[in-house]
Amino acid sequence: MEKLLGKTTEQLTELAAARKWPLYTGKQLAEWLYRHKVDNVAAMTNIPLKIRAEIEKEFTTGRSQPLSVMKSLDGTKKYLFRTDGSNYIESAYIPEGQRHTLCVSSQAGCRFGCSFCMTGKQGFHGQLDTADILNQVLSIEESSLITNIVYMGMGEPLDNLGPVLDSIKILTSDTGMQMSPRRITLSTIGLLPQIEEFLEKSSCRIAISLHSPFEDERAKIVPAERAHPTGRLIELLRNTSADRQRRVSFEYIVFKGVNHSKRHVKELVRLLKGIRCRINLIRFHPLPGIDLSPPTNEDILQFREDLEQNGINTTIRRSRGMDIEAACGMLSARQMK
Ligand code: SF4
Repeated sequence: MEKLLGKTTEQLTELAAARKWPLYTGKQLAEWLYRHKVDNVAAMTNIPLKIRAEIEKEFTTGRSQPLSVMKSLDGTKKYLFRTDGSNYIESAYIPEGQRHTLCVSSQAGCRFGCSFCMTGKQGFHGQLDTADILNQVLSIEESSLITNIVYMGMGEPLDNLGPVLDSIKILTSDTGMQMSPRRITLSTIGLLPQIEEFLEKSSCRIAISLHSPFEDERAKIVPAERAHPTGRLIELLRNTSADRQRRVSFEYIVFKGVNHSKRHVKELVRLLKGIRCRINLIRFHPLPGIDLSPPTNEDILQFREDLEQNGINTTIRRSRGMDIEAACGMLSARQMK
């Protein structure tokens, strides 16, 4: 049966019009699905019984409960879901003071094979539809607490742009979840030209997974660099973000002896000149089958100081949920086996 979840208010209104239901049924459905977060049609009590019966004949809400949840000592929770296509995906709930962030997946697996990434090691298993993306937000126990959403889980969101944009539309719409786009961040390795389309169609924040300012060195850890060169990406960001006052952040996983030297600092300063941005340094944590090592505390602190002294806002991201297989892709890889 077709899913209601994932349809925008406009699509739900069209669906009502096609069945000769009152047009406002579309808005009512959107409010029940996204604002009241109900998971069954019977609970939609302001819709007449006769129409609810017709809806139930043709549609499901599309909600599905997580298969399992793991809880870290620091409060981080890792949820595992199964999609309609029998793929496994993960979402991470990360509480931090007043901020409650949900990290969502946009694909089952990933086709880009970054050398440090467990999801990349799985290969690509399928796209998520808009319902699969939103179900992660709606079906976790802490759904009503979520203040921020990051598209930073499994997959490359710009490689599934249509459903990702539709999910953002629903998250931010007045008849949907009414979130501010400033509280939503899409993390990407920087696919061209999808990033241009994203910047045009959305005012959400964007985080670029950079990991090295040198194209040849980045290509060794992010193979997509060859088809989507950093130089062109930065040029595009320089032109578009300046127009829209959008602050961009760069995610930078620090690997011991690979990407944190003075030479890297100098090139980062040159590359990012004129872009209003921040660099988030992330300590690499050892992962099975991945031949890269974590930096020492001194390495990462020194790198931050060097960048700050050169005028680049830099933070070190605190590692969360390390006791529950926090690296994205580990839980689902084990489930698939
Ligand atoms: S880092 Fe992102 S783009 Fe690279 S393999 Fe992992 S999920 Fe895919």
